[in-house]
Amino acid sequence: MDMTKVDPLLARITETEGIARMLEPGGAERASLVEKIVSYADRFLDSIYDVPAYIPTEDKGIGIYDSPISETPMNVDAVLELLRQNIDRPGLNPASGGHLGYIPGGGIYYSALGDYLADVTNRFAGLFFAGPGAVRMENLLIDWMANIAGYPATAGGNLTSGGSIANLSGIVAARDAFGLKSKDVERSAIYLTAQAHHSIDKAIRVAGLKECPQRYIPMDLDHRMNAGLLEQVILDDKKKGLLPWLIVASAGTTDAGAVDPLDAISEIARVHKLWLHVDGAYGAFFVLCEEGRKILKGLEKSDSLVMDPHKGLFLPYGTGAVLVREKKKLYDAFWYQASYLQDALRSADELSPADLSPELTKHFRGLRLWLPLKLLGLAPFRAALEEKLLLARYFHGAMREVDGFEVGSYPDLSVVTFRYVPRRGDANAFNERLIREVQNDGRVFLSSTMLDGKFILRVAILCFRTHRQTIDLTIDILREKAKRLQESV
Ligand SMILES: *Cc1c(COP(=O)(O)O)cnc(C)c1O
Repeated sequence: MDMTKVDPLLARITETEGIARMLEPGGAERASLVEKIVSYADRFLDSIYDVPAYIPTEDKGIGIYDSPISETPMNVDAVLELLRQNIDRPGLNPASGGHLGYIPGGGIYYSALGDYLADVTNRFAGLFFAGPGAVRMENLLIDWMANIAGYPATAGGNLTSGGSIANLSGIVAARDAFGLKSKDVERSAIYLTAQAHHSIDKAIRVAGLKECPQRYIPMDLDHRMNAGLLEQVILDDKKKGLLPWLIVASAGTTDAGAVDPLDAISEIARVHKLWLHVDGAYGAFFVLCEEGRKILKGLEKSDSLVMDPHKGLFLPYGTGAVLVREKKKLYDAFWYQASYLQDALRSADELSPADLSPELTKHFRGLRLWLPLKLLGLAPFRAALEEKLLLARYFHGAMREVDGFEVGSYPDLSVVTFRYVPRRGDANAFNERLIREVQNDGRVFLSSTMLDGKFILRVAILCFRTHRQTIDLTIDILREKAKRLQESV
């Protein structure tokens, strides 16, 4: 006798199972889905060198709201059309080589394939017990990064979701390593420059350190921290009875790509026993090329360091990294115990990401980094970084020759600042109009900033798809737009 006929519990289980099994597509369904999704991605990639870097649209993707989440499934073609119209068209196209604004990210296809595999297999990379191989892969990647940064074998770290969380992790490790107690916060001083990334301010606040005195050290004309003044301020603070404990230096600022004098700063940190945290979210991977390594000298003497694979290694968004010179200090800040994880303690040959970060369950982000490095080897990454650095120098030299333009400092890395100096009228207002013209044109995307009270335009060259052709096009666009604006005033 069939029990489901009489037992309502079994009947409902059978019924729900039938619907729940839709979560598992069969072979034929998978093949058809993959074919549609891959052909969408192929269309995107096949036109990536021809589409604009920026598309200002009236609708700004609002059509996504016309299709709310509902009980009924939607056909894959219709779903992809929603994506194309509302997500992949309006606004900035970060995958474009014409993206020269802010700090560009990457998006190499090899990482997408790594993500695909990581998502299908869904290995648990948080704990060694559960995913020993996955954890070893992430540890291997951290060791490799520590090695290229010049850190000793005692170093450790964590793959994070990005540079902001990596900065937070480094600052929390510093706080605990220093043994900073809440009663001492008001007299424990932090040293940085006004060019430090805002994620540093956020990290300080989130780490409960908002009341620490923050000393903004003056910079030289190239927007690098003045190391002599840093030492003077530390000495003055000590005399006042303060506890200097943390220096935050930049290995590539967002505004100007400036690298603070890391060698001199690390010496000051050593002598006065401060923790040196270096934010290299944008710039640290330039150690992979010879020119970059020279400029980043001293990086290896920091206590903690942030480097973002989703910037300098051209990965798609979602992967940063924090490295700490003494792995134990990161562990001391983030270790945990929970009775429901007691089995994990039986097998802990190596530290796990969960021991070194606020996260437990997390994306297996190692695979999107490991796969491209294994499939390609390091040569293309080194070459691409050197190319970006040289393109910035090339752009700097070329813009200096373009009538009416004035360029900022010779680039440390791959950001160049410049502006147009109009024959008459307000320069700030002119450059504000100029950036709007360039953005509305859309073939390339540049962003602006305020530097020393001036409205400044900048190019940040870091997308792996940016080559000389893009830079020549950018120079032409700037020349053409500035000329037209100049004629209209
Ligand atoms: C991008 C950036 C950050 C923040 O990193 P996210 O990955 O965006 O969170 C921090 N510092 C610098 C210098 C950056 O360029």
